[in-house]
Amino acid sequence: MKAGHDISSIKHSVRGARRLLVITGSGVSAESGIPTFRDVNGWWKTYKPEELATKEAFNREPAEVWRWYEMRRAIIAGAEPNLAHQALARAEISGRRVAIITQNVDDLHERAGHREIIHVHGSIWQLRCTAEGTVFEDRRVPLPTIPPLCTCGQIARPNIVWWDEELDPLVTARVDALVKESFDFVLAVGTEATFDYIRQWALSAKARGALLVELNPRTTALTSAVDMHIGGKAGEVLDVILAE
Ligand code: NAD
Repeated sequence: MKAGHDISSIKHSVRGARRLLVITGSGVSAESGIPTFRDVNGWWKTYKPEELATKEAFNREPAEVWRWYEMRRAIIAGAEPNLAHQALARAEISGRRVAIITQNVDDLHERAGHREIIHVHGSIWQLRCTAEGTVFEDRRVPLPTIPPLCTCGQIARPNIVWWDEELDPLVTARVDALVKESFDFVLAVGTEATFDYIRQWALSAKARGALLVELNPRTTALTSAVDMHIGGKAGEVLDVILAE
């Protein structure tokens, strides 16, 4: 079953599911007004990732990189969780296991009330000292200085995994353990699944018996491997298929 699958029949099969693994990408926050990376109005149409989301760029021009993060922090601070974040949180609160692996650096899943979340690419609200490695939260928008400083006086960077960096091995270990658990469904929502590890995690859970469902208006690098592709917007579809 692939594109064009009937939403009501998916709703019926999801209804009985008690354990959901959900892999989210920037598309889950699109209906909150936060631009995705690769869509028509995505960041990469205006900015070049290699100029902004790399350690190399930060070392060369920290203020320039920080100005981009300042802009994104302002958008995220002004955004609200949408129907997708709310439907997932509601499902968790109602007693189902809904474990989220998110590539997003925003906090809209948390603000919707969701509890079980692993951020694989970090958080836009955390800073990390470039000298000491200390991680601290700073939600001020705008930040008092660009670049912001650690209490030790050295420059801080966003605590985010950049394109020329590896995932935090502690986070990877947590996700590896999670995908080995037993789930009824794996939902891949609003992600291009460009990164190998995202596809591997989804396939690993599927290999253990979960039904792999993709929710995305478009086809992606994962589509050929899924059991069902639902072509729709995250908020509109999740609100229906996760309704009690
Ligand atoms: P991406 O930009 O590569 O892909 C976005 C995907 O979302 C596309 O497949 C698109 O078709 C889909 N989409 C767009 N609107 C949608 C909607 N309403 N409902 C469902 N799907 C929708 O994003 P990605 O795959 O998440 O790329 C990963 C990178 O993007 C990560 O590094 C992540 O940290 C970063 N990112 C995060 C945020 C955020 O935190 N909100 C925003 C932009 C980018």
